[in-house]
Amino acid sequence: MNAKPVHAAQTLFPVADDCLQVGGMPLTRLAQRVGSTPFYAYDRRLLSERVAHVRAHLPPAVELHFSMKANPMPALVQHMVQLVDGIDVASGGELKVALDTGIDPGRISFAGPGKSDAELARAVAAGAVVHAESERELRALARIGNALGLSPLLVLRINPDFELKGSGMRMGGGAKQFGIDAEDAPRLLALCAALGLTVLGFHIYSGSQSLKAEAIIEAQAQTLVLAQRLADDTRDPVRILNIGGGFGIPYFPGEAALDLAPIGEALDAALARVKGSLPDTQVSIELGRYLVGEAGVYVARVIDRKISRGQVFLVTDGGLHHHLAASGNFGQVIRKNYPVAIGNRMSAAHEREMASVVGPLCTPLDLLAERMELPVAEIGDLVVVFQSGAYGRSASPQGFLSHPDAPEVLV
Ligand SMILES: *Cc1c(COP(=O)(O)O)cnc(C)c1O
Repeated sequence: MNAKPVHAAQTLFPVADDCLQVGGMPLTRLAQRVGSTPFYAYDRRLLSERVAHVRAHLPPAVELHFSMKANPMPALVQHMVQLVDGIDVASGGELKVALDTGIDPGRISFAGPGKSDAELARAVAAGAVVHAESERELRALARIGNALGLSPLLVLRINPDFELKGSGMRMGGGAKQFGIDAEDAPRLLALCAALGLTVLGFHIYSGSQSLKAEAIIEAQAQTLVLAQRLADDTRDPVRILNIGGGFGIPYFPGEAALDLAPIGEALDAALARVKGSLPDTQVSIELGRYLVGEAGVYVARVIDRKISRGQVFLVTDGGLHHHLAASGNFGQVIRKNYPVAIGNRMSAAHEREMASVVGPLCTPLDLLAERMELPVAEIGDLVVVFQSGAYGRSASPQGFLSHPDAPEVLV
């Protein structure tokens, strides 16, 4: 894989005749086919190649799940269902998209805080695996199971007593709204027994967006040790163990791609160490952005070209309302530029200039690239934002300023 710092010209998409190729066709042709800008495009070949890359490095016994909240586009989820072993959903709406693919419902798992009784009932009725995050959810599951005459497929989501170091977003360790505190697990396992609920296993998620193999290896080892402890506390055999994911992708200058080889080797060795205490356990990892993030682009058209006090502004028809993360407003502490290119001026021969790429919203936050060196662009050119296959459209405030939504295509 590409281990160099990400730069617009070093992404996974090929270039031919000065034009970026997406889905095997020139971007200019794809834009004609979509019929309007802005839009998101996801490349099937890159999605398939990424799954194959992960599988080539993971121990073969470990299942690979796709975390749908990274990209819930139904056609993309349908594509992913054919490649992965399970789909992790985080709402009743995502559950519906997953069920609509025709996947075996037992390969859908539903995690997330604050699941409503209606969402829980839909999951139980469908035969999906529910990852319970609280005592209230356990009591509701027992009630719903009795009412429907079904045994809920139940996994306990555990808030670990450690975190994935250096991750972009803290999702475990310390006080959190996610999962059941590891030290509270014995009490809730006893409650499950009293309620007549069978616990199929555990889900231990410690963080996201890590580019450090060492940190992921350490978190996985700690996760397996915690799972051993939980196995001692439960009377049911541990059938399911989801050890989280957290594999990051490089977004910003100077970041390098994650090397999966040492992670796979260390996981293989760590699994061998715990095999004795977890003999019946199917281990899975769950990945969102790592599987889909680099396979997607966001494309907007240059509507205006302005010079303000000596600085060039390319004003496009797209912006933070479609792509909050690229604007720097989705949890980033210091704003940095995503990799951006002019998709119809990809050759190195073009004259270059410093320019800022902005959107049409009436806020200075509406920025796709701040003072970036780009080929000199003209009105009508296509601005491409790379690394846009995850947490793009569905993580953006599309209603803000009432511009049209961005369509998505899988090509
Ligand atoms: C969001 C989420 C993921 C996916 O995270 P990525 O950084 O996209 O891989 C995985 N597991 C859980 C529990 C999540 O909430």
